[in-house]
Amino acid sequence: MSPKKKIVKRVKAKKKAVEVKEALLLQPPRGMRDILPQDQPYWQQVRRVTEKAAADFGYRRIDIPLVEFMNLFSRSIGEGTDIVEKEMYSFSTKGGEKVTLRPEFTAGVARAYVQHGMHVAPKPVKLYYIGSCYRYDRPQEGRFREFFQFGCEALGEQDPVLDAQMIQMGWRVIFQLGIRNVKVYVNSIGCPACQKSFRNLLVHYFESKKQKLCIDCKRRLEVNPLRILDCKEDKCVQVKVNAPQSIDHLCDDCRIHFKELLEYLEELEIPFELDSTLVRGLDYYTKTIFEFIPTLPSRDESVSENEERIKKNALGGGGRYDGLVKMLGGEDTPAVGFSLGLDRLVAEMKKLGAKFYREPKPKVFLAQLGTFAKRKSLRMFEALERAGVMVAESFGRGSLKSQLKVADRLGVEITLILGQKEALDGTVIVKDMASGNQEIIDAEKMVDEVKKRLKK
Ligand code: AMP
Repeated sequence: MSPKKKIVKRVKAKKKAVEVKEALLLQPPRGMRDILPQDQPYWQQVRRVTEKAAADFGYRRIDIPLVEFMNLFSRSIGEGTDIVEKEMYSFSTKGGEKVTLRPEFTAGVARAYVQHGMHVAPKPVKLYYIGSCYRYDRPQEGRFREFFQFGCEALGEQDPVLDAQMIQMGWRVIFQLGIRNVKVYVNSIGCPACQKSFRNLLVHYFESKKQKLCIDCKRRLEVNPLRILDCKEDKCVQVKVNAPQSIDHLCDDCRIHFKELLEYLEELEIPFELDSTLVRGLDYYTKTIFEFIPTLPSRDESVSENEERIKKNALGGGGRYDGLVKMLGGEDTPAVGFSLGLDRLVAEMKKLGAKFYREPKPKVFLAQLGTFAKRKSLRMFEALERAGVMVAESFGRGSLKSQLKVADRLGVEITLILGQKEALDGTVIVKDMASGNQEIIDAEKMVDEVKKRLKK
């Protein structure tokens, strides 16, 4: 091939490569989004309130990886659940490991508890977390593929007072965020022994109504009949109205546990609703389960309380998972936990016009003029910051007029002006923004002078 032909061929190949390159989409994948600076005050408020509650109740923070081995979730959450069947972001690494982006935290926290031998610590071991979760679900209002959870787990204690305390903590966080229109729905699905006999009753009941169930529930009947109670399809909601209720089939131990929990809730004056169709979408739960559901100011009387719950997006939920740690290879460890969906808390706060966190604003502005003064200003900025004084600047702007405009807009109390002359003299001009008075001071004493004036 002649050199000319070679060049033509190469150019053509390059052109083709450019053509087949996929268009760059200026957006994140579906169901994921940016949380922009203007929304951060809400998120900051949620983080402050949740972390304060965790500290007040004696919980210590744990961070776990975003990615875990896939079978941690498939075994603990359960093969027949929506999360495991349809919603996990799973992939094989270059090394051939099958991993999953965490769809929730409890399984990972329990894994860490076993791995790090936390059973030797005084019980209960109280841990809290905050971070993102991933579920490949159909995005809609309040449902994202990337979302954030705050949650607490208490491991090693079986007393129902802890179940009550979990509900109390979730309730308190929601209330402190200014969300008052919330109801707690509770149920008990019993221990594995009660679940077994209850499961048989459910299968018997739903078999007789099979024709009226959605396709998914017909399948659930084979793999995981409890999940039918969780279905949001209208026709399944109708069928389950008369289904057997788990609380009627609890063993003595589970019944006493549940009764005591309800007594604690009454003592705490937390309004709750019993809901026999509440099962939650994860298999590891035993005994107590609960959800926090926002209520409308006026209820539609044509729908039952249960239907209302099913149609709403929960702000959070939780329950007991007495068998999970053992299933993962640890000791027999009763445990209880809950999580709140931060995206939904923020959405509800916005809807209600709830209070958000206001960042403290700088009270001092540092203006400079000329290269030498700018160099000195960098040092001054640092000296003030170190002394705990918040300073604003606009070093990129050339003219003093435009810098003073910024200072005005920020509403600072004091503007420090450092021109070429002051920089050479070792002085600085202090301008009181309210009176407009200016004074020249010794640059060495600048930090003390600023602090003195701010105190006034
Ligand atoms: P779960 O682990 O399913 O019990 O979820 C606990 C809480 O996380 C829910 O009550 C929601 O507030 C939140 N949550 C769960 N899934 C999503 C989602 N796809 N998008 C937004 N928030 C979610």
